[in-house]
Amino acid sequence: MAKEKKVEAITDMEVDFGQWFTDVVTKAELIDYSGVKGMYILRPYGYAIWENIQAVLDKRFKELGHENVSMPMLIPESLLQKEKDHVEGFAPECAWVTMGGSEELTERLCVRPTSETLFCDHWSHVVHSWRDLPMKYNQWCSVMRWEKTTRPFLRGREFLWQEGHTLHATAEEAVAETKQMLEVYAECCENWLAMPVIRGRKTEKEKFAGAEDTYTVECMMHDRKALQSGTSHYFGDGFAKAYGIAFSDKENKLQTPHETSWGLSTRIIGGIIMTHGDNNGLVLPPRIAPIQVVVVPVAAHKPGVMEKANEVYELLKKAGVRVKLDDSDNSLGWKCAQWEMKGVPLRLELGPRDIENGQCVCVRRDNFEKVPTALKELETAVPALLDAVQQGLFDKAKKNMDENTHVAQTLEEAKAIQEEKGGFIKTMWCGSLECEQRMKDEAGMSSRCRPYRQEHLSDRCAVCGGEAKEMVIWGVAY
Ligand code: ZN
Repeated sequence: MAKEKKVEAITDMEVDFGQWFTDVVTKAELIDYSGVKGMYILRPYGYAIWENIQAVLDKRFKELGHENVSMPMLIPESLLQKEKDHVEGFAPECAWVTMGGSEELTERLCVRPTSETLFCDHWSHVVHSWRDLPMKYNQWCSVMRWEKTTRPFLRGREFLWQEGHTLHATAEEAVAETKQMLEVYAECCENWLAMPVIRGRKTEKEKFAGAEDTYTVECMMHDRKALQSGTSHYFGDGFAKAYGIAFSDKENKLQTPHETSWGLSTRIIGGIIMTHGDNNGLVLPPRIAPIQVVVVPVAAHKPGVMEKANEVYELLKKAGVRVKLDDSDNSLGWKCAQWEMKGVPLRLELGPRDIENGQCVCVRRDNFEKVPTALKELETAVPALLDAVQQGLFDKAKKNMDENTHVAQTLEEAKAIQEEKGGFIKTMWCGSLECEQRMKDEAGMSSRCRPYRQEHLSDRCAVCGGEAKEMVIWGVAY
């Protein structure tokens, strides 16, 4: 159902998706720009979304036996350099501290782009015996990557995230942990953020610097581009060896442990915006929306309206709903447009006539459907409507992903589909870096993942025609 815009217009997403995104993050009051390029101020409403995601994940991490820690922000250069692939991967994006006050430091210090090296150094001090394992740590922090091109949420020089790091006695246990944490991310995306995902493994080319294997959940945005939404890495024993971590096993023999790391960042908020948003602004999944319901009194000056609105507000608050009462003196039209911009899942309108009839009107943000609701049933009706919005958003996003996932048998076909329609393109692949590179150079797509759910599309690699090893999903990524 199309809806007329009432306040400050934002750019239509069909006109300029990038500008639409920038308009939404600022007009919905999620971020503000700071004095440093690529460093953003998360305003209360934006930060509240992060806090809700954080709460979901933190609870799950702890249920699975992880403990939160806090590592220093600075890494000595010599420490960073111990793992060759890792340092090569991150070197172009490192920011360095070279001065302390007015004195030049004897060794420059890297502002953490990620903390593998710090965890490894720490473990080399405290892990001695099989009894010390597993180590299952997580930290909530910000990291710094000196990006050239920056965008709010999607590519910041500093961003918030969590990074889990674990150390295990055996490879099997570490691989199981890696897969388990990917599943935690997949469930967070699907069940809480209403974002359907494709679970899979990265190719050699796309995996994390220093990892043996990187697992990923990939989501499709409204503009059919891909967003890597959470990754989980299996490191084998490479880092442990480089950093001298060893433990004596039950037979008193010295062994090298196996490591994992996994992370999800505020980038996911960019994903939520680009998955669910529309031309009226942000659309938030009820389960992580800071405000789930806004009560908007109609003709608030009429006797009894504010009293009833207050009553409804208190009732919903008591029922555990995150509710706000808009008692501002803005016009009704302005209020409605403003709460739509901020993506509040349900707007509850209440006027004199409604009160007479013992009802109110609930307006769904996902489809603008107006649902007359009896006031005495609010406690059950509102949570049910929020569930319906949550499901509605997931279904819409799933439909977008399914309808825009295509099969190609050749590179030419893949290129043509990408140019014409965009989206995810599934092809068979021989496993060679050359073919992956050709897909990138000629069709403009990177491999998103080698999905868990493999399909046999043909016996031949779509690029070289050689013997196919597996199916890959390609796409243009953020
Ligand atoms: Zn090939």
